[in-house]
Amino acid sequence: MPDSGVRKVILPARYLQGPGVLSQLGAFVKQHGERPFVVSGKTSFSKVKARIQSSLLAAGVPMAGYDDSVVECTRAKIDGIVARATSMDADIIIGCGGGKAVDTSKAVAEKMHVPVITAPTQCATNADGMADAVIFTEDHKFIEDFYLSRAPILVLVDTDIVGRAPTQYLVQGMGDALACAFEKSAYSICQKSKKGVEQATSAALEVNLKCFSTLMAYGVQAKKDVDAGRLSEAVEAVVEAIKLQSGFGFGGGGCAAAHAIHNGFTVVPGIARKHGEIVAFGTIVQMVLEKRPMGEIERVMRWCVEVGLPTRLKDLGRLDSAYLMVAAEKACDPNDTMSFMPFPVSPKMVYDAIQETDRLGESMHQ
Ligand SMILES: [Zn+2]
Repeated sequence: MPDSGVRKVILPARYLQGPGVLSQLGAFVKQHGERPFVVSGKTSFSKVKARIQSSLLAAGVPMAGYDDSVVECTRAKIDGIVARATSMDADIIIGCGGGKAVDTSKAVAEKMHVPVITAPTQCATNADGMADAVIFTEDHKFIEDFYLSRAPILVLVDTDIVGRAPTQYLVQGMGDALACAFEKSAYSICQKSKKGVEQATSAALEVNLKCFSTLMAYGVQAKKDVDAGRLSEAVEAVVEAIKLQSGFGFGGGGCAAAHAIHNGFTVVPGIARKHGEIVAFGTIVQMVLEKRPMGEIERVMRWCVEVGLPTRLKDLGRLDSAYLMVAAEKACDPNDTMSFMPFPVSPKMVYDAIQETDRLGESMHQ
């Protein structure tokens, strides 16, 4: 291995996005298997079951079975579905739904050594294209990030489905995607300073930076269009930013302060926002930690206000402020991704940056 480290990129083999692309599922399944098994959540599956079944049937690869009981990506759920899909001789997995169903499907396929195709039903995450599965306990406590040998062979993003899901999913997805340009840059700089560790490719980093400019250019319009039920170019651009550009080539790694701060906030009583929304706030805190120019921070904050992402502590819920230092300490847990910042970050620095973000957020609302 060179001293500078090996450059690594992990990508899905194929990505397809547009209204109606789910109808092509069967034709792609047929290229890789004969006995598809669907992993999904109940609500998601009820919306797409008929379309999936008819596409598979038309291609001559009828569904071998399905499990639509995913509510959380747990070890027990993964093992249970592996047993069921194996007993049905499944040779390809289709993951359908939100992040949890998709993560479960990827872990199931990994354990069965068969390929996986993902077909999201909403836009709150970028889990569909990533080569990892985040595993939780039944009561949603983080256990591990399970890294997979490869990314899905196909990501099928039907904008007729994800673009018509409630707008809040798109907003959450934009919040999560907002972090990528900042976290991937920090992560890349941090890795460069170490010897013999895996390095991000410039190509992947460039796409993550593109994600940010896409959000700034089209995010506000995309939210308005989804609100109005319009599948516009802005919606397509933002869906691509969330589903393909954010996390592009990192396989699941590449996080830094924004996600660590999110993880810290999860211990604060009263937190009432979802993953992507908390990550958006964490992104601004990371920008403050990095001492970015005030104009740059204000631009991101104004955008957050316009699309409905939190910029003040009170936007995150009725937080018990006595726990903010606990959150700052948890964010700096040596096993969390704060360690991928290019400079040492202490709980005090995080605490101060949270307060500074809140103060800036307040002034933005006056
Ligand atoms: Zn995230």
